[in-house]
Amino acid sequence: MTVSIVIVGAGFCGTMTATRLLSDQTEKPLSIALVDDSYSVSRGVAYRSDEEGWLLNAPARTLSVERDNGNGFVDYCRLRGRPAEPDDFLPRAWYGDYLAHVLKKAVANSGKHQFSQHDGYAVALEPVDDGRTKVHLHTGVGISADQVILATGHSDGRRSITIAATGGASLDQRLLVTPWDAVKLRAVPDDSHFFLCGSGLTALDVVYALHRRSEKLRFTLMSRRGLLPQHHCQSPPRLQPQARRALLDQLTVGPRHCITVVRKVIAEHRARGGDWREVIDSLRPAVPQIWSNWSEADRRAFVRHIAPYWNTHRHRQPASTAALVASLRMSGCLSLMAGRIETISAHGDGLLLAIRPRAAAASRVVHASYFVNCTDVGMAPAHRATASDTEPHADCKHRPIAHACDSLFDQLRRDGIAKFDWAGLCVDESYRVVRVNSCTNPSLFYIGPALKRRFWEATAVPELLMHIERMTEIIMRQVSAR
Ligand SMILES: Cc1cc2nc3c(=O)[nH]c(=O)nc-3n(C[C@H](O)[C@H](O)[C@H](O)COP(=O)(O)OP(=O)(O)OC[C@H]3O[C@@H](n4cnc5c(N)ncnc54)[C@H](O)[C@@H]3O)c2cc1C
Repeated sequence: MTVSIVIVGAGFCGTMTATRLLSDQTEKPLSIALVDDSYSVSRGVAYRSDEEGWLLNAPARTLSVERDNGNGFVDYCRLRGRPAEPDDFLPRAWYGDYLAHVLKKAVANSGKHQFSQHDGYAVALEPVDDGRTKVHLHTGVGISADQVILATGHSDGRRSITIAATGGASLDQRLLVTPWDAVKLRAVPDDSHFFLCGSGLTALDVVYALHRRSEKLRFTLMSRRGLLPQHHCQSPPRLQPQARRALLDQLTVGPRHCITVVRKVIAEHRARGGDWREVIDSLRPAVPQIWSNWSEADRRAFVRHIAPYWNTHRHRQPASTAALVASLRMSGCLSLMAGRIETISAHGDGLLLAIRPRAAAASRVVHASYFVNCTDVGMAPAHRATASDTEPHADCKHRPIAHACDSLFDQLRRDGIAKFDWAGLCVDESYRVVRVNSCTNPSLFYIGPALKRRFWEATAVPELLMHIERMTEIIMRQVSAR
């Protein structure tokens, strides 16, 4: 009997989940349907761009996804005539091509398994008879399956920023709710000033892409702490095993203690001629264990006080991007602020932003041509057309406007199928989505960056791949037992 599986989302996680399931040679044939709304299967948000200057933030040698070829990504690039060395930081678009190639190969060699692709946005899941689930697409099509895997990336409906914003059509044109809206802008005047909410790797993507259009554009990047990602350097990736074990043995209690220990170890390591990156990278595989040892209060404290520092040291920018950012700062084209945005209003042919710098008693006003949301959460401006562009909206509430990408999770939450807490979507240790009543859905899985809530380290390729391997093993065991 064929077992049917629907995978919702065809970014890195959906693509690699399909690839692993197709290559599994169990007795039972599988019928796998891969659904995505973006027409860019295998690329997802991270690898769909044509912008060759957007580089991967890790060396090519660390990004192979083939079980039998640890140098698969480099080999693939070379086969296509693209110059690639194992230590290079290659374009993200090339990686998307590589993932598409790996999936195509798996489909071609899938033996008794069937595979189909569907264009559409999954809007709802409906439990139907005999434990199956129907996935409803926005097109009206419904696909029934024995198992459903949500691989929807950051679209887990957990949070959105709400900012009080006033203005009519001119506000809508200048308030860009995703970073990719900024990159798609046509005809940007040379004297434009872009105000970016967020100062992480995505904000740097936007700066890079727009700067290539005109070197005169100005950028302000604002985040809670005003921190930029650190940069990579050529260094051995890990501490010696003995030193690593000694470090991990000390990281048994809460985040404050861990930070003290890590700082001390970095200082000692530097004194011996080492680099702090080796210490941070050595910690990476142990993070899920450390995270799971912490209490909820510890985790909250980490997210609130330490995560911005951890993230900027852990998720680093390639050295070439760092050089561009440094030169823009030197020339005054890029500035960095710590603080938060209070309100946005349309003003003439631009925007007025009321911002509160970190630790300041009062807010101040900044003019910008465009506002770009470069955070990893959806943005929901609490606004819509007002009587005039400059008149504050009498009825301006901080109200999230449903983000298209959240409608599936809204339904799951509403119908009690998925539970959320302060840290996001609740998933158990076998990747099954937890119901509002705290039982798990036996045949509904989630794979992707929202696993951060359970493991913290679940954003980059190596960790996601490890979770995909584990989840597909669990699913195949369940399939065999049917
Ligand atoms: C800009 C960027 C750069 C990155 N660079 C690196 C890097 O250099 N190195 C590294 O290791 N990691 C990197 N990462 C991190 C990591 O690789 C990605 O987060 C990872 O690709 C996540 O894959 P995903 O499949 O879970 O999500 P996504 O890539 O977001 O894919 C989800 C897919 O699901 C679709 N979808 C969502 N909801 C629905 C729905 N309801 N119905 C149908 N389809 C839906 C979306 O359209 C999308 O195509 C980067 C991440 C980003 C965002």
